[in-house]
Amino acid sequence: MEFIQPNRLDRGFYKYQNEFEDKALEVLRSGWYVLGKEVSSFEEEFAAWVGSRYCVGVGNGLDALWMAFRVLGIGPGDEVLVQGNTYIASVMGITINGATPIFVEPDEYYQIDTKKLEALITPRTKAILVVHLYGHNAKMDDVVNLCHKYNLHLVEDCAQSHGSAFKGRKSGTFGDIGCFSFYPSKNLGAFGDGGAITTDDEQIAQDMKVLRNYGSEKRYYNKIVGANSRLDEIQAGLLRVKLRHLDELCEERRELADYYSSHIQNEKLILPQEREDTHSIWHQYVVRCHERDALISYLNERLIGTIIHYPIPPHLSEAYQYLGYGPGSFPITEQCANEVLSIPMYNGMTREEQKRVVDALNAF
Ligand SMILES: *Cc1c(COP(=O)(O)O)cnc(C)c1O
Repeated sequence: MEFIQPNRLDRGFYKYQNEFEDKALEVLRSGWYVLGKEVSSFEEEFAAWVGSRYCVGVGNGLDALWMAFRVLGIGPGDEVLVQGNTYIASVMGITINGATPIFVEPDEYYQIDTKKLEALITPRTKAILVVHLYGHNAKMDDVVNLCHKYNLHLVEDCAQSHGSAFKGRKSGTFGDIGCFSFYPSKNLGAFGDGGAITTDDEQIAQDMKVLRNYGSEKRYYNKIVGANSRLDEIQAGLLRVKLRHLDELCEERRELADYYSSHIQNEKLILPQEREDTHSIWHQYVVRCHERDALISYLNERLIGTIIHYPIPPHLSEAYQYLGYGPGSFPITEQCANEVLSIPMYNGMTREEQKRVVDALNAF
């Protein structure tokens, strides 16, 4: 019996192998490898797919985040509201600029709890960072209303939500800036690092282009101290190939999630739910279990791998000791960290593989 890994990136490659190989060779033979026509075509195509006016490719998701806050002028003394149960990169995007993250507990969908936002807004609050965790969506109309009411910037961390939608509108189009990662394991994954921002604001798009390229618009004329954070031509070309198939890839994941949701039956497990009015792209299928360690071993013995997203919440990580939080500071966030478990979920997963996972979960 074969071990079922939590993710299988090779399946995604072999599905469109010829297209990927043709594109890679085309770029290699073109003699142009950074900031060329593949990147600009990808930027146009991805903006159109997401439904925003502009897209700017950058080096990775973390860069998209910190550069977004930089362009918005958010820095020391400023506070940004962000959910506590996120990948640490969301928080680093804030703190790299010297701003302070203010953690918000999640709701039952693992998204920022919009009922708790207003009480946390102070005169120092400059922005809300919404993370569409696991491919789901926050209650975006609440967030947008609050941002209007208090004149706050809205940044979206869409690293796990390429194509997820709230009331028919895709994530990455609600805020001033949407930040995407194309790390290989993401739903739209490259074959190396990559990232992008989306925006409807021409000035923001322009500022991002300057910031990603040493602060220069014109070669050797540097307006600001910038970064070297560019999506390269090979990754952009390969992402264009995958983007052509992304709708069907999203649909396939929704079918995988449906199968899990209608076949897993075990009172010890809390299954993930899709919020009304949202369209999840199921970046992860995350169950919760009080006896998580026992469940992990049980599955492992049956040759089924799992991952925890994420075992240590940012406020308890060593990197953020300086913020002064401790165990108990954010009980719901911490409960998530102690109980969540991502079961195998990937494009190209077979029915037999899913059935083995379901049978093992139901027998636990
Ligand atoms: C992956 C991820 C990031 C960071 O993206 P990289 O491309 O790995 O830098 C940021 N936020 C979330 C929620 C992520 O899942």
